[in-house]
Amino acid sequence: MIVYNTLTRRKEELKTVHPGEVRMYSCGPTVYSQAHMGNMRAYLFMDTLRRVIRMNGYKLLGVMNITDVGHLTSDADEGEDKMQSAAKKTGKSPWEIAKHFTDLFFRDTARLNIEKPEIVAKATDHIADMLEFVEALVEKGYGYETSDGVYFDISKFPSYGKLSGNTRLDDNIAGARVDVNSEKRNPADFALWKKAPKEHIMQWDSPWGRSYPGWHIECSTMSRKYLGDVFDIHTGGVDHIPIHHENEIAQSEALLGHPAVNYWMHVEFMQVDGRKMSKSLGNTYTLDQLEERGYSPMDFRYFCLNTHYRKKLNFTFEGMDAAKTAYSRLLALLKACAASDAKTDPAVIEAFDKEFADAVSDDLNIPLGMGALWTLLKNPPSRDIYEAAMRADKVLGLSLDKCTEEKKEDVPADVRAIADERWTARLAKDWAKSDALRETLASMGWAVKDGKEGYELTKK
Ligand code: AMP
Ligand code: ZN
Repeated sequence: MIVYNTLTRRKEELKTVHPGEVRMYSCGPTVYSQAHMGNMRAYLFMDTLRRVIRMNGYKLLGVMNITDVGHLTSDADEGEDKMQSAAKKTGKSPWEIAKHFTDLFFRDTARLNIEKPEIVAKATDHIADMLEFVEALVEKGYGYETSDGVYFDISKFPSYGKLSGNTRLDDNIAGARVDVNSEKRNPADFALWKKAPKEHIMQWDSPWGRSYPGWHIECSTMSRKYLGDVFDIHTGGVDHIPIHHENEIAQSEALLGHPAVNYWMHVEFMQVDGRKMSKSLGNTYTLDQLEERGYSPMDFRYFCLNTHYRKKLNFTFEGMDAAKTAYSRLLALLKACAASDAKTDPAVIEAFDKEFADAVSDDLNIPLGMGALWTLLKNPPSRDIYEAAMRADKVLGLSLDKCTEEKKEDVPADVRAIADERWTARLAKDWAKSDALRETLASMGWAVKDGKEGYELTKK
């Protein structure tokens, strides 16, 4: 398996620390609002990577964090804790907000067929571990106290900036300005720990008084705790490269005396009209909003899979329409395959399997793999093709097996309403009403078949 490593700026063969096992850490959501489709692109990337790793026969241990404290409104330690400001705006507690948006996140990711990593780690569940990490850094001389917190002294870590290539410490590193905090020794020194003003709701005891962790320390701490001192892959969005991940590297390497991560992988942004899709620009869409406009989660997944993860992806409704059309065409072709008794030359199938596996194992070239699937589908329909597509779908995660199911969106709303009413009547054992409604449906051209858990409509 080949992956592109942001650190070395080239594609490399994946060599794991533990034979046959991949250990991977992914930066997860900050749970102060509902994740938007730009965020979802990042988790779709994580999910696809997980699937390709498994396809290559590895055991997988994946960790994702949930940031529920300490992520300030600017990544470079300025502004307010995002959880705290959401609490202020809504009158709810940060704990309630975190719970609500964490649940929503996992509801949305499940709809998108994004699997939950083996371990999901909440920052607030790891305060003691983080505190221990920071105390060790201070003891080693990497951390120093100021009136508002504990900072990492990047001048003590000469390779600071190696991930982004921005090694000029006096530079204006993404908003880190000298005048912001004059007690900082270097402009890009970042907060390990923040002293809590009285009104900061989430705060804990520490050697520096009531306080709370900085954002970056949670990832260094939790990745080490669950994956060990050296692990294989660390993922995130490209926005993490210049600050968050530089800071993680500084913290972990300062503590350990060696690198903690072998491969850094980053997904490019989803854009709208040439600008990043982001809450602050007000150009975001959520999954609910897409569904309201008639797009299914799988339409969106298909839309994303069509562009390589290291390329920018422009979100447009024309693009979504094209994805929706292509996806339903894919299902229709596969439905014909599922129902077919014909055979396909085994050599053709074998060649497809190999082409697909080679493509997706080459730094996740999913678009190329999808191209191979479309080419395969130019053959006359056969069950062999259906089965090959199901194997590919273990990586694509497009629920292609659903092709044989009746498609809800093809049923007009009035027909659906009558069918629902009939189902309710059936459950109430009102057979007369149920039969009458069956007649109504028949007169509208629809046949209904009842199963244990629901009904199926087919056009007559
Ligand atoms: P956040 O909750 O803001 O910390 O972001 C969650 C994840 O989404 C991070 O991995 C970001 O890198 C990623 N992300 C944010 N905006 C976008 C975008 N427009 N396109 C792709 N990924 C994004
Ligand atoms: Zn992180």
